[in-house]
Amino acid sequence: MDFVIPPPAPSSLPVTGTTARFPVRRIWCVGRNYAEHARELGHDPEREPPFFFSKPADALLADGKSLPYPPQTGDLHFEAELVVALGTGGKDISHEAALDHVWGYAAGNDFTRRDLQAVAKKLGRPWDLAKGFDFSAACGALSPVAASGHLAQGRIALSVDGVQRQEGDLSEMIWSVAEIIAALSASVELKPGDLIYTGTPAGVGAVERGQTVRVDILGLGSLVTPVI
Ligand code: MN
Repeated sequence: MDFVIPPPAPSSLPVTGTTARFPVRRIWCVGRNYAEHARELGHDPEREPPFFFSKPADALLADGKSLPYPPQTGDLHFEAELVVALGTGGKDISHEAALDHVWGYAAGNDFTRRDLQAVAKKLGRPWDLAKGFDFSAACGALSPVAASGHLAQGRIALSVDGVQRQEGDLSEMIWSVAEIIAALSASVELKPGDLIYTGTPAGVGAVERGQTVRVDILGLGSLVTPVI
């Protein structure tokens, strides 16, 4: 096929144990999925169904790559998250069948321009530029389910320059991975290559230029992001 301008390179992630890569189609994110984090942002975690936002696929930032401090913010926040990668898709996927669609898991960091998000919330505007800026979707290597199984529990933690800032357990998610997939697929058709960031535990905060953020999830590799 001829294109009138060069087509963009596809986004992809490395996979643990192979040189082959996982192609990324869309990046979905779920908000406020740990009770303590919902409370720290001033919300009641008991009464809200899951809600979603997205980032561009080319916002991916690989493990070890530097994040250039983004423009138009003075409050860049980290958010350690379990990332789910779908190997198959569908519409109206049942809760019971949902995990069959998961190809693998990775440690992620949903970088956020918190000040822009606060303005968007106040004015009832979209979150896109608070969440979907360049390099905002840090993600480590994918661990295939075929090799490591599903992750329903396990420590998730984040440190900045070696000082722990976030710690939780995957079992504390308000909405499980299966429930998230079922809920999202009721709204859009999911397809192979979709990633879902599943929310962050309490302790989110700012990171400055010159600091290095590290996410660790039990059973997955770490994700290291220097902010420059
Ligand atoms: Mn998040």
